[in-house]
Amino acid sequence: MTVSPTHDRAAGPPGPRRALVTPAYAARAAKTPLVPFTVERREPGPHDVLIDILFCGVCHSDLHQVRDEWSGAIFPMVPGHEIVGRVTQVGEQVNKWKVGDTVGVGCFVDSCRACEACQAGEESYCEQGPVYTYNARERDGATPTYGGYSTRITVDEGYVVRIPEGLPLDRAAPLMCAGITTYSPLRHFGVKAGDRVAILGLGGLGHMGVKLAKALGAHVTVLSHSPGKRDDALRLGADDFVVTRDAAAFGRNARRFHFILDTVSAQHDYNAYLGLLRRDATMVLVGVPDPAPLSAPSLIEARRRLAGSSIGGITETQEMLDFCAARGIGADVEVISIQRINDAYERLLRSDVKYRFVIDLASLQS
Ligand code: NAP
Ligand code: ZN
Ligand code: ZN
Repeated sequence: MTVSPTHDRAAGPPGPRRALVTPAYAARAAKTPLVPFTVERREPGPHDVLIDILFCGVCHSDLHQVRDEWSGAIFPMVPGHEIVGRVTQVGEQVNKWKVGDTVGVGCFVDSCRACEACQAGEESYCEQGPVYTYNARERDGATPTYGGYSTRITVDEGYVVRIPEGLPLDRAAPLMCAGITTYSPLRHFGVKAGDRVAILGLGGLGHMGVKLAKALGAHVTVLSHSPGKRDDALRLGADDFVVTRDAAAFGRNARRFHFILDTVSAQHDYNAYLGLLRRDATMVLVGVPDPAPLSAPSLIEARRRLAGSSIGGITETQEMLDFCAARGIGADVEVISIQRINDAYERLLRSDVKYRFVIDLASLQS
């Protein structure tokens, strides 16, 4: 089937591109509530697609950045990097997408495309730094990027993925960050059937980690500081649940795990968790809390490894989406209107989310 009607293409002769004025929600300064705002999206260039945003997940990284916890934040800031929507316009040289496609956009919207990481399809490790979806600048070094708490976005066709049929779109949105950020280290570090895997922290990332590790055949234990999450952990597929507020739990579970995925957003004692790893086993940090000390013996005594992992590349993101669709895996979500975003942030701070807030952007249209 040939799909190339000209009405699918950006209209008009080449020339200065119009700015598309788009409703959004933004923080105007650090630690201030999000308020209604408008952003200008670029009219699609030859390789761009314009996407109507349907759902956008709420990641703890949004909160870290709105609170300027990683410093250097750019305000006004429109957060949101778990975007699912429909293509409404494509640039004249776009072949990969057509109007009506259901697509996702994750944590970055561009990268240098030339470095070793980009060439290897590992754009999240771009040596120039990927262009993050918000709180960043486009490759021109000037234009601020604005995220998915808005009704549409213009993105280069190479930084967009296909949402497979069968995945409910609200439950698919969190896969664009929480899904790929947990899938990528599980795969990269070779987690396999029968491995004893611990997921540390049962939030947005953690609950996806449980589902994905289980789908890979691992024996999964949740390590949580919230005793009330036990039933949910088991329902999500975990085989065991350990409350980390109980100091004796560290002795009982010493040298138990082949792999620990640490998703905790607040400062905690890495050394205590390293003690739960077997000989030659690995703990991977994906959570980004304030720094905490590391003591060499926690690694040395069992030749353990401590590693980190950042999101995942575009090809791997597509692979993860297809993996999830084939197994009916989506996020457990609480769908909210954009008007409830500040309450959602408060709850996220208290680890009170089951297990991802997802904004229905229809609430911003009306
Ligand atoms: P989240 O939904 O808020 O979950 C974080 C979980 O950490 C909480 O549910 C809680 O689990 C645990 N936790 C929170 N405060 C704690 C405390 N004081 N002591 C012990 N445990 C605590 O956050 P998320 O969206 O999953 O994000 C988690 C972290 O990953 C954030 O730092 C985020 O910025 C980072 N992140 C990194 C990447 C990457 O590429 N590396 C990508 C996305 C996000 P329990 O209640 O079960 O203890
Ligand atoms: Zn995220
Ligand atoms: Zn690069």
